Amino acid sequence: MSSAETFDHTAIRAYLRRATAVIDRHAGYLTRLDETLGDGDHGDNLLLGFRSLAPVLDDTSDPDAARIGFLLRTVGRSLAANVGGASGPLYATAFIEAAEVAGDATVVHARTVAQMFRAAAAGVARRGRCDVGDKTMLDTLRPATAAMADVLEADGSFADALRDGARAAARGMRSTRPLVARRGLAIRLGDRSAGHLDPGAVSCLLLVRALAPSAAERRRARALSAVAE
Ligand code: ADP
Ligand code: MG
Repeated sequence: MSSAETFDHTAIRAYLRRATAVIDRHAGYLTRLDETLGDGDHGDNLLLGFRSLAPVLDDTSDPDAARIGFLLRTVGRSLAANVGGASGPLYATAFIEAAEVAGDATVVHARTVAQMFRAAAAGVARRGRCDVGDKTMLDTLRPATAAMADVLEADGSFADALRDGARAAARGMRSTRPLVARRGLAIRLGDRSAGHLDPGAVSCLLLVRALAPSAAERRRARALSAVAE
């Protein structure tokens, strides 16, 4: 069961399927951005990684399958093993840090989700030895996760958190264009890295936006709650 204000493993599996679909749709664009600033593989890297999640997402036979920490840790490990390139271990770290916060829980409430978001961004900053302003995925992830956590810690709704998170993510992503890169392959371009969007900042925006359920999922949830009433 997942109500509007809690998440269970089913909701997280649904999110990861949306994320896979969105990366699939935009892989070509991400790779083209990486051709300008890096080595032209970001979309392909992420696509391989997210496609590798299919067996993990479909397998609910494991006795631990409903444990959110177990699911997110397995996802992180699969991304680490299957995304070539720097972004793999970084996104893996985000999921694994969130997993640590969720632990054995089968349902997480808003305040825990807020902590999971903050832990994910802190993990990327630590693992990437990066900060906001370095022209990386963190320029999207940190403001987005902070905005979502702020709303949830103030007992706001998930819908409001996702709306604020997506706005902050978009601003953060756009902020990377004028920056000179201080991390990742784009460093090699020096000042010429300015004037282009960071590919990881764009993929991160896509992954944050995918947190919001699709219109079809919202319709299904409304229909279910109408039946339950
Ligand atoms: P690679 O650069 O190894 O080819 P990808 O192309 O998959 O890996 O990912 C590139 C993205 O990874 C960059 O656009 C940037 O957002 C992110 N990135 C690279 N290095 C770091 C780092 N040290 N900290 C944070 N993010 C980084
Ligand atoms: Mg690359």
